[in-house]
Amino acid sequence: MPPQPPRVCALMAHPDDIEFICAGTLIALGQAGCPITMITMTAGDCGSREHDQQAIAAIRRAEAARSARLLGAEYVCLEFEDLRIFRDNDSAQRVTEALRRARPDVLITHSPVDYMGDHEETSRMARDACFFAPIPNYRTFAADVAPILDAAPALYFGDPIQGRDYFHNLIEPQFYVDIADAMEKKVEMLCCHASQRDWLRAQHGVDEYVEMLKEWNAMRGAEAGAPYAEAFRQYLGHGFPQENVLARWIGERIRTK
Ligand SMILES: [Zn+2]
Repeated sequence: MPPQPPRVCALMAHPDDIEFICAGTLIALGQAGCPITMITMTAGDCGSREHDQQAIAAIRRAEAARSARLLGAEYVCLEFEDLRIFRDNDSAQRVTEALRRARPDVLITHSPVDYMGDHEETSRMARDACFFAPIPNYRTFAADVAPILDAAPALYFGDPIQGRDYFHNLIEPQFYVDIADAMEKKVEMLCCHASQRDWLRAQHGVDEYVEMLKEWNAMRGAEAGAPYAEAFRQYLGHGFPQENVLARWIGERIRTK
């Protein structure tokens, strides 16, 4: 019997982060038969100047769910609040429980260094949850406890926003995924987040949501020898899978310098 495609999970802080950072790769993995879960820590409750937290969260949950549907993925929101993602015992338990429910073989999260704290805290908690989830005595005290994982999933860090650390230095990826033929759908997924386009224009002066994405993926593409690419680093710490599982399933798209 051929091996089962791995279960893939993207766990990131806010609605639209997954689309920016790794949607092209998720599209490719979906085409390879991988079941996919998209998890955001928050519903994006601070991303508005005109709606209150509850109202904008409802809008953005629906936008994220619509984007996940385009991919045929499941969408889960862990209901943290924007700018209040901190690693403490309760948060670590919630994230671990979410992983035990999603049961990923592959987890993609934020770069450990990124432009804001929510992303960095999510990255750290995602890494820890991979380690905790297979440990029987690590209890989450959730109402309906999911079984432990058999092993830590293969863990990948996506690019920080625009591929840069907070000194504006480019992060050096381990490898790239050629997403040229997934770009149209990736843009379609990003455009589900209509409320964010308005917010970024008002708050950060970023007028062209889609142009920013294309420039970023074209820059990584130029490094990789492809029209558009996403960049990744695999976490190779003690106790984690060392094999690049993605290479087995979408190897024809993997590029190195
Ligand atoms: Zn974000």
